[in-house]
Amino acid sequence: MYVKRIDMKGKGGLSTPYFGIYIDPNTLPDDDFWHVLRDHFGSLIYESTMYGTGMVQPPSYCPICHGCDHPRGLCPFPLLPAWKGMSRDSPKRGFKGRSNDRNYDNKSGYRD
Ligand SMILES: [Zn+2]
Repeated sequence: MYVKRIDMKGKGGLSTPYFGIYIDPNTLPDDDFWHVLRDHFGSLIYESTMYGTGMVQPPSYCPICHGCDHPRGLCPFPLLPAWKGMSRDSPKRGFKGRSNDRNYDNKSGYRD
């Protein structure tokens, strides 16, 4: 299990770091355990002297690669040599991504 920092910008260009928690699914005994971990980390309060109190956010889906841990502007695929897909600043069309996970409710958090 590891944590990855993603440097995103909020309103007015304010630095708004996100932290993703990753785990190798092969190390989990079953899907139920993944739900236990997700609910556990989702229920914690993340306090920092540098950034204040962190809040659990729904995944950010990328319309370029369909990854769920970064927005379009941070997608690494357009930086690959000979990449022929969408660029980070292509007009938005086709797959629009989702700003909210279908299993995430802004009021109650994740649901199964
Ligand atoms: Zn991407």
